[in-house]
Amino acid sequence: MIVGAGQAGHALASTLRRRGYADPITLVGDEEALPYQRPPLSKACLIDDGAVSVALGPAEYYETHDVTVLRGKTVIRVNAGEQRVELCSGEALPYQHLVLATGSVPRKLAIEGVDLDGVHMLRTLEHSSAIREGTQNADRIAVIGAGFIGLEVAAAARQAGTAVTVVEAQTAVMPRVVSQPMAHHFADRHSREGVEFVFEDVAERLVGENGRVVAIETRSGRRIDADVVVIGVGVEPRCELAVQAGLDVDNGVVVDHRLLTSDPHISAIGDCASFPSPWGAGRVRLESVQNAVDQAACVASRLLGDDGPYEAVPWFWTDQYDLKLKIAGDISGHDETIVVETGRPDSFSVYCFADGVFLGAESLNQVPEHMAVRRILKQKTALSADQVRDPEFSPKAHARAEAPA
Ligand SMILES: Cc1cc2nc3c(=O)[nH]c(=O)nc-3n(C[C@H](O)[C@H](O)[C@H](O)COP(=O)(O)OP(=O)(O)OC[C@H]3O[C@@H](n4cnc5c(N)ncnc54)[C@H](O)[C@@H]3O)c2cc1C
Repeated sequence: MIVGAGQAGHALASTLRRRGYADPITLVGDEEALPYQRPPLSKACLIDDGAVSVALGPAEYYETHDVTVLRGKTVIRVNAGEQRVELCSGEALPYQHLVLATGSVPRKLAIEGVDLDGVHMLRTLEHSSAIREGTQNADRIAVIGAGFIGLEVAAAARQAGTAVTVVEAQTAVMPRVVSQPMAHHFADRHSREGVEFVFEDVAERLVGENGRVVAIETRSGRRIDADVVVIGVGVEPRCELAVQAGLDVDNGVVVDHRLLTSDPHISAIGDCASFPSPWGAGRVRLESVQNAVDQAACVASRLLGDDGPYEAVPWFWTDQYDLKLKIAGDISGHDETIVVETGRPDSFSVYCFADGVFLGAESLNQVPEHMAVRRILKQKTALSADQVRDPEFSPKAHARAEAPA
């Protein structure tokens, strides 16, 4: 029984079937759509709705692979003692093993005006359609938060010719999640595309007229006129079922290195799971397609009798204009960066270290280098700052040379 028919839930069901799992699989989701991927919602879908199919599998997949999908149904209660889940419709369904893949929700801003028309957050297909329509009919939009999603929305809006202002409380874009050189490069590109940034300021009130947003007022007293406001200030894990079931919860559903919760009959995967990461400092919760898919694969292996710890190399991507950034490893605690230029415009890497230990690298418009860095991390190949500074350094050669026999 999988609760949450999103990226992780779909990956678990399809991986189990691909590897020969023969028992019944039920995928319960509270959205009406069949499982779909979210990354295009803040990228291609905002520019042209018809440009990309977001479905994770063809509609007939679930029937032909004997996966029961219950759409538009919320699981409201887990009865862990009796191994049953209860749906909003009143049905109760038994499980042998339950996997929570409930994802996350956009963090709400507790300020006046967030319920006005024209104010959006972005998580679902419906949100994406509403933002696309709103942006195409707007002269000016404002984005609160210069994280990945806020900047992807800003890039899409500029490509549609709409004026964009981004308000960010910190001093840089994508604060804490990318290195300073990479943040500068993206901020510079957005500025050249016409995005106006307001740093070190906070949206304090959304101003409305006749029920519709018309402006943001900030703490410093600035007024930013906007026909549409998109709030992108992070997400919060959906833990309500875990809390109700009495499972351990701490910034996510607490799981061990095998992704098992404090109940041996319940696992948790994807955005909602807080796990002990071999790549970061202690317990982390990752919001990425890689994490959702690899955690699904780890739990599938366990359910098929091949138990092992979750230790996949974390990686992430974001696309803004023609800037395609890929990040390998958990670089969040870095204290040293080395920029490696390629000589091509908009194409360089930033290698990140903490106390001299290699954490990972950001690769801009360089897929082969990114893949090589992932291999270096997976092989646990040592890499020093001096090796990266060597003008002859090539991550591909380093990964090959140091690959285990
Ligand atoms: C706009 C956007 C852009 C993104 N871009 C990128 C990107 O470029 N690169 C990247 O790596 N990642 C990106 N991500 C993150 C990535 O999509 C998520 O990390 C991934 O979807 C997590 O998968 P999940 O299955 O844990 O959660 P989800 O895909 O959110 O699925 C969880 C599902 O569970 C449902 N659910 C929750 N509670 C219940 C319940 N009680 N009963 C029934 N159903 C329930 C939810 O409604 C949802 O459908 C993006 C996310 C968004 C929103």
